Amino acid sequence: MLLSNSPVETVTFRNRSFYIKRDDLLHPTFSGNKARKFLYYLDKEFREPRRLISYGSAQANSFYSFSSLAKIKGWEFDFYVDHIASFIKENPRGNYRAALENGANIIEVGEELAGLNIETYLQQEILPGYTDALFIPEGGRCLEAAYGVELLADEIILWAKEQGVTELKVALPSGTGTTALFLQKRFIQQKTSIEVLTCACVGGDEYLKQQFFELAQDQRYHPRILSADKKYHFGKLYDDFYLLWQDLCAETGVEFELLYDPLGWKTLLKHLGGEEGAALVNVPVMYIHQGGILGNETMLPRYQRRLKNKI
Ligand SMILES: *Cc1c(COP(=O)(O)O)cnc(C)c1O
Repeated sequence: MLLSNSPVETVTFRNRSFYIKRDDLLHPTFSGNKARKFLYYLDKEFREPRRLISYGSAQANSFYSFSSLAKIKGWEFDFYVDHIASFIKENPRGNYRAALENGANIIEVGEELAGLNIETYLQQEILPGYTDALFIPEGGRCLEAAYGVELLADEIILWAKEQGVTELKVALPSGTGTTALFLQKRFIQQKTSIEVLTCACVGGDEYLKQQFFELAQDQRYHPRILSADKKYHFGKLYDDFYLLWQDLCAETGVEFELLYDPLGWKTLLKHLGGEEGAALVNVPVMYIHQGGILGNETMLPRYQRRLKNKI
């Protein structure tokens, strides 16, 4: 199956023009950066696996994307989690609901871990029990992710050429940093000057830098990390995130997601506006919409409850 070349739109936000690469529109059930990262597994013909195994958070975008991949391929899918919050068990929504509807088996192992991290637990206790299972690390943090991300990079390179856009900056928020890193690497290998700007949504700048090193020793391939104005904890609610998200959706007419995009836009705007931003005033910026809006089904009610309690 081929994923279609996602469209690029031009929007204005806070008096500046941005290109938006709409990877959220790639495919009805398999979209965003998880689709790019898992494309290798979609395209490759496997003789053996009947079962896909991964782990992470019960509400993760990757849970849903894995479940769609497994459904398309006709595989069983076992997703291991530490713990499922009772409110989500009782009232399934968002990625969790959609993944279960796709037939995912979710397995809670908190009690059995006995101090092991969940990946080690799977490697030692679960995977040896299968001869026909395909294991993908959390969120698709693996070298195989390069395959689909390179196609994304090539779409951007071709688009820039066709549009006569030079000096392009490509901005996207990072979790594991896998998408940002493989984009930057491809832009360099293809001898373009396109620069990737990213920010750390999980674990801070140092952690992100470490992730980059795990995927590529050569620092030339590491994207530029734009630092945030203060420390934010992944998955926590921040009033300014919600307000920015509301403005963003209203002004651009595009629905973004609430976990990564608010920090992505916040740090991007900060750096475009600051002193170093002076050099970027006329530089075209493309923001990659990496999907994940199904998660808004759980994030929006959380924000609405929070704001109601404040009034
Ligand atoms: C997973 C995800 C990210 C983070 O991607 P990494 O490749 O892990 O950096 C960013 N945005 C959205 C919407 C995601 O689902």
